Amino acid sequence: LHQHLVKAERLEVVEKMAAAISHEIRNPLTSAIGFVQLMQDETISKDKSDQYLSILKSELFSAEKVIRNFLTLSKPELPTVETLNVNSELQFVINKLQPAATRSLVSIQTKWTESVWIHGDRQSFHQCFINIIKNSIEAMENGGTVTVEVESTSTNIDIRVQDTGKGMTQEQIEHLGEPYYSTKGEMGTGLGVMVAFNIVRAMKGKINIKSEIGKGTSFEFSFPIEEQQREKASSYNN
Ligand code: ADP
Ligand code: MG
Repeated sequence: LHQHLVKAERLEVVEKMAAAISHEIRNPLTSAIGFVQLMQDETISKDKSDQYLSILKSELFSAEKVIRNFLTLSKPELPTVETLNVNSELQFVINKLQPAATRSLVSIQTKWTESVWIHGDRQSFHQCFINIIKNSIEAMENGGTVTVEVESTSTNIDIRVQDTGKGMTQEQIEHLGEPYYSTKGEMGTGLGVMVAFNIVRAMKGKINIKSEIGKGTSFEFSFPIEEQQREKASSYNN
């Protein structure tokens, strides 16, 4: 009986995962099909068809990326560890999210001074902060501000993402990081925070969340600086 239960639970997880993945890739694929249909019209100009092709390519890329990201979840491959410039990697993420922020009347502000360096896998570092900042943007239905702050001490690098969004109840905060926990219905996957937390854990970071309904939320990450990293950082700065 116990065996059966375990199997049934596993199956449920697989089903949920499949549902989440198919949901995430449906949008770019539907869009890609649309552009293929537009291109079947033989009277369109070369310019138009080039434009459609380039959109088609980027939609297929994003579908492929979703699969790649979700598969890394189940396949604990060794990521490449590099020394990353925290501010420029965060700026990269912000630039990527800027169109979504603008659409939602959200302004993204940064507060950082000197360059700080961290050890990590670049792709994962991006993924983590894309997921967190995206949630902040989505929490502000009537616009607002996301502040991304970086502070470093002799022992830690602290990164804070603060929004002026709808906030969370204590109960909601406690569910964060659970797979498939989402308050966004059909629009949500409930995988973003779980993926982010896994990445932070892999980087030996700590997470602190503060939230107030109607006021906003802040996600505070604290990463330890190892001796070796500090040496590397000083040699980079010179
Ligand atoms: P999804 O965004 O697909 O719902 P996530 O794992 O990214 O899944 O987030 C899980 C849930 O956590 C969200 O549905 C939302 O309820 C809550 N949440 C995460 N970040 C915030 C935030 N900045 N403000 C308010 N709620 C948030
Ligand atoms: Mg999300």
